[in-house]
Amino acid sequence: MAELKLSESRDLTRIERIGAHSHIRGLGLDSSLEPRAVSEGMVGQTAARKAAGVILQMIKDGKIAGRAVLLAGQPGTGKTAIAMGMAKSLGLETPFAMIAGSELFSLEMSKTEALMQAFRKAIGVRIKEENEVIEGEVVEVQIDRPAVAGAASKTGKLTLKTTEMETVYDLGAKMIEALGKEKVSSGDVIAIDKASGKITKLGRSFSRSRDFDATGPQVKFVQCPDGELQKRKEVVHCVTLHEIDVINSRSKMHKREKKKTQGFLALFTGDTGEIRAEVREQIDTKVAEWREEGKAEIVPGVLFIDEVHMLDIECFSFLNRALENEMAPILVVATNRGITAIRGTNYKSPHGIPIDLLDRLLIISTQPYTEDEIRKILDIRCQEEEVEMSDGAKHLLTKIGVETSLRYAIHLITAAALACQKRKAKIVDLEDINRVYHLFLDVKRSTQYLMEYQNQYMFNETGEGDEDDG
Ligand code: ATP
Repeated sequence: MAELKLSESRDLTRIERIGAHSHIRGLGLDSSLEPRAVSEGMVGQTAARKAAGVILQMIKDGKIAGRAVLLAGQPGTGKTAIAMGMAKSLGLETPFAMIAGSELFSLEMSKTEALMQAFRKAIGVRIKEENEVIEGEVVEVQIDRPAVAGAASKTGKLTLKTTEMETVYDLGAKMIEALGKEKVSSGDVIAIDKASGKITKLGRSFSRSRDFDATGPQVKFVQCPDGELQKRKEVVHCVTLHEIDVINSRSKMHKREKKKTQGFLALFTGDTGEIRAEVREQIDTKVAEWREEGKAEIVPGVLFIDEVHMLDIECFSFLNRALENEMAPILVVATNRGITAIRGTNYKSPHGIPIDLLDRLLIISTQPYTEDEIRKILDIRCQEEEVEMSDGAKHLLTKIGVETSLRYAIHLITAAALACQKRKAKIVDLEDINRVYHLFLDVKRSTQYLMEYQNQYMFNETGEGDEDDG
């Protein structure tokens, strides 16, 4: 039952829903990186957006590694929104990974392992592969020794009866097995001459899944119907280092993790477990080889860590070290904290971040919104949630946003729309806003309520009015 619930909730996250930032479609900058007042769902916060745009340009140029940016500002000033804007503006090929500081403290794996996985999710590898076009024909290949069962007829005549790549690969692999002596190994590209059945090695190639997947076909196989190799076409795959890690961590898992989803499937379930350092080392060596051979290049992406003040001193030292790696992604962290304790120590530091890491960060600060900006953000949110609202209601909601917080006002949109639906109206009006304003408290009113009725709560810490008084 518990399992069922878990999988249900996981599935839900994949459905496209209206999330807190679904209205953000980019950073809203023009071609010279100047922020437009309202664009791509973004309003105001121009200095921060411009700074984020400069960082984005650096990422797109792909020349820098290991830079880190801190988005610092009061709650609800758009730090996460800006990070999402950056993510949307990056091309599909540039990886963007996001975690919240609190997510690192799970029981599944150590914090540094979780951070390492997050880092590797943000490092892309662009692999160039030369694929041969295998088209259309049925090719017969004569081999003069007993062939393996199933792949050949009794006479040793192997017939490739399909044009589908996968099947051709499978048959090719079996055939090589049958030929035994040919010393063709994993990743080799061979051509088989139609007339003589002679096998020629054409060189080495590789493909992401084939090269790493131990159970997959081992040999690339090209047919050569007229003794001539068909046209080659370059295919580019983009994967993250984390994906390569996960695919390879199968069968090398710890005993206690045996029950976990393994290999490729683990990528979809996210149930990856810890990945051993040796696996990563092997992969790094392999990737380095590919880079030297010109077959692959590294695409440093972006790792966004929200609520960075939740990290502790161990995590911060990990970040310091990880940023030194030449493959490191751009690290963007965000916090709304002022001078506060660094987790795991008794020391205080700005934003709860140790000075040595702070010193590496380019700091972008976000500012509170003006009334006009709040109004515009609320307008955009109404459109996003497909809620029609009268001018009067919007005006009141803006005032509420100024007095309380932008987030609270945004939340009231959905609630007010429900209130409006209940009274069978189409346009949200003042009365709906009023209704939900009194139904749901904002922080200020809630605190005030607590102050008034503190005696009725447990563990109140205001000092006065303890149980004795009541
Ligand atoms: P916290 O410090 O509490 O995490 P934050 O600075 O990350 O807050 P967001 O979550 O980005 O704040 O902003 C609150 C809400 O307002 C979100 O729904 C966000 O998409 C929206 N928002 C914030 N700034 C803007 C903006 N400049 N343009 C459009 N929407 C914005």
